[in-house]
Amino acid sequence: MLGNMGANEVAMRRALTAAARPARVLTGNRIPPRYRMDALRPSRGSPLSDVGDAPAAVVFPTTTAEVSAVLRIAGRLHRPVVAWGGGTGLMGGARPRSDAIVLDLRRMRRVRAVDRVSCTATAEAGIILEDLDRRLRRQGLLLGHDPWSRPRATLGGAIGTNGLGYSGHLRGSMGDQVLGLEAVLADGTVLRTRAVPRSTTGLDLKRLFVGTEGTLGIVTAATIRAFPVPEREEIHAFQVPTFGKGFEALCRIYDDGLTPFVMNFEESFRVPGGPWPMEAGPPELVLGFCGPRPLVAASWRVARARLRAAKARPLPDRVAAEYWRTRHDIIYRMDEVAPGVTGADVFLKDVVFDYAHVALPRSKVLEFRRPALAAVRKHGVSPLGFGLWTQPELVSLEMARPVRGDRRRAKAAVAAAIDDVLRRAQALGGSMEYVHGVGVALAHLIREELGPGLDVFRAVKGELDPSGRLNPGKLGL
Ligand SMILES: Cc1cc2nc3c(=O)[nH]c(=O)nc-3n(C[C@H](O)[C@H](O)[C@H](O)COP(=O)(O)OP(=O)(O)OC[C@H]3O[C@@H](n4cnc5c(N)ncnc54)[C@H](O)[C@@H]3O)c2cc1C
Repeated sequence: MLGNMGANEVAMRRALTAAARPARVLTGNRIPPRYRMDALRPSRGSPLSDVGDAPAAVVFPTTTAEVSAVLRIAGRLHRPVVAWGGGTGLMGGARPRSDAIVLDLRRMRRVRAVDRVSCTATAEAGIILEDLDRRLRRQGLLLGHDPWSRPRATLGGAIGTNGLGYSGHLRGSMGDQVLGLEAVLADGTVLRTRAVPRSTTGLDLKRLFVGTEGTLGIVTAATIRAFPVPEREEIHAFQVPTFGKGFEALCRIYDDGLTPFVMNFEESFRVPGGPWPMEAGPPELVLGFCGPRPLVAASWRVARARLRAAKARPLPDRVAAEYWRTRHDIIYRMDEVAPGVTGADVFLKDVVFDYAHVALPRSKVLEFRRPALAAVRKHGVSPLGFGLWTQPELVSLEMARPVRGDRRRAKAAVAAAIDDVLRRAQALGGSMEYVHGVGVALAHLIREELGPGLDVFRAVKGELDPSGRLNPGKLGL
């Protein structure tokens, strides 16, 4: 085996196997193709390589000490280090360079403690969110972060991207639910912050590692909030005559102080030539409340009155039940059907598909809608859906363009449409992304997003990781 390797690779493998057991280090052609790219797939508009680079090594640490040792070795060998969770990130945040050491954290998956009284759990970063949820449910608690990707994404990846789940309005983003964490810095130092609901002791250090995509440190464990399983969850679906009426009704519902644990409001458009059922119709709303029965009943009384005023028509209960039951199904399409090929790659082979997830001031949502849809069409791309998720200010716009024999052209058109839409959101005082992070896919727009804030971010990065070892090229760093 060693005979096939270059001297550098041999030295790297030796050093890494001194830190982690040999079975936990892969180099050369033993690295499976899935580490070339995360869920930023060739079917997206991004002009980045459709193939991706294999990293130089993949290490599967099982302890924080091993992570620390790998980072020290990477420093000595001048190698970048990329944290890898479930590889479900949609922005290329975990895409490695060819000289990188990938740290696949999924063998760090222990639940260190569940504090039933405090409603908190301390778990290692590589635990799959669904596994953590299952563990908590045994003790009458649940995981508050419930993204579509829950069966595959990890706690560390969710913190690294500051993800948002179905219950994001009620329970907060992943970052909002982190009380304290353990992270390893570029030089191998292990940092632990106190796991408390609040502290006014200077800079909130845990936030350095929330949403920063492994560029400032590797999260190895976190103490997060857990939530008692509610007595009742009640979800209903409605059809609303127009997007504007639905939006207004929702604003009223939120202003009434109601806190839905699920809200998805979406209008769909017909996309000729796409692999989807070609249906379009009035916008549909899925709305749900949870908690003690009287609270849920009272919430529904108020919400129904608002929806009646908007002439919303209730849909059969099976519509909402089906929505909720199948809410994670889409992530299984990211599973490999052949080495390096996912089900989604096959499903989307004849189409370029992408989406924007922007946060806007509420007063700008309707002002954004029509011009954004028109802009997409102007680029020769078809809008697929325009919707609001978890709260009225969080807007998503899905779009697609059939390849029709010229994939490069289709990708360029979709990329231009996405950039146009994101810049429109920024111009209205919004943010270009509220859920998936920046990775490499949106790095070219980060200066417009952060302005001089990008220099502050870079200065922080320079202090914590002066050699730029951690996940270089992501977030515009
Ligand atoms: C079909 C589909 C649906 C999705 N739905 C949602 C959704 O509803 N809500 C949502 O928020 N996201 C969603 N996502 C995106 C993705 O699942 C999330 O971004 C998720 O949080 C990524 O977790 P992961 O473990 O897969 O991380 P990865 O993709 O492995 O990594 C994501 C980023 O975090 C960094 N990272 C990973 N682990 C660590 C660590 N331990 N310490 C520091 N940095 C780390 C990586 O380097 C990378 O930059 C969806 C993705 C797909 C494909």
